[in-house]
Amino acid sequence: MKSLLNVKNLSVHFMLEEITVKAVDRASIEVKENEVLTLIGESGSGKSVLGMAILKLLPSNIKIGGRIDFNGFNLLELPEEKMKDIRGQEIAWVPQNPSSSLNPVLKVGFQIAEPMEVHLGYGRKTAWQKAIDLLRFFDIRPPEKRAKQYPHQYSGGMRQRALVAMGTSTRPKLIIADEPTKGVDATKKIRVIELFRKIRNNHKPSLLIITHDLPFAEKLADRVAVMYCGQVVEVAKAETFFNSPLHPYSKALLESLPSKGLKPIKGLSPSMIDPPKGCRFRPRCDYATDKCFEEPPFNGQVRCWLYA
Ligand code: SF4
Ligand code: MG
Repeated sequence: MKSLLNVKNLSVHFMLEEITVKAVDRASIEVKENEVLTLIGESGSGKSVLGMAILKLLPSNIKIGGRIDFNGFNLLELPEEKMKDIRGQEIAWVPQNPSSSLNPVLKVGFQIAEPMEVHLGYGRKTAWQKAIDLLRFFDIRPPEKRAKQYPHQYSGGMRQRALVAMGTSTRPKLIIADEPTKGVDATKKIRVIELFRKIRNNHKPSLLIITHDLPFAEKLADRVAVMYCGQVVEVAKAETFFNSPLHPYSKALLESLPSKGLKPIKGLSPSMIDPPKGCRFRPRCDYATDKCFEEPPFNGQVRCWLYA
């Protein structure tokens, strides 16, 4: 499979008044054409920051290093004007909170139609009709009536599907979804899984799904990248990963699942301001040795001295 997105050695530091928060540290991930990569890890590990950095949605008090190659361009060097086109047409961002991401004073149909007018050059009527088709496709019924309604008239699940309809209306090459199951109860999760399968089968985009929900990730992923304290610590094929994870953090993460014994990961997540020296997982790791006071190399698959 051809590579579509290649994030190389990305660092994102938030420069606050007296401190620097190193939210992402030399992280590398690749998303190939038509594949689903899930980026997993606990809250606060830098996953969303990495996702937002790809679309340059971060505030201006950041220092950013590395490269983000997408479709032949280093996005970090693209002017904002070009980035706007990429955001509208080629990479869609499906944010975490559907309620605050739809415009409350505009009809949902209009919000889905507008990107098609702006970026695909459709006339108003055609775009509106396509918006109705998308609502139907994503099971928001009756679509003709729903198109004319406002977000507050939708249920939470419908708002999320509308947001996905909005994000996919221009048939982007890459869709980045941030915690799509956050706040969704277990019974409704199945619908979210179906929703992403549907997107995937429809126009075959690549998907980067950011989630701390491992069972959800397992249902959708082709490959998995694990983040810990701003760093990517393991990348693997999904099947291999969920059967036999390598990195001690990945192992601990899987063992903390209800289905695998519910064993909590000992210790606390480290500070992003002053992370532990050497391996960042060292204070919590059962396998740590003196060597682990030095930073482990990343061999492309796992960042740990056990595999160096
Ligand atoms: Fe544990 Fe050392 Fe591997 Fe870090 S490098 S995960 S401390 S064994
Ligand atoms: Mg997040």
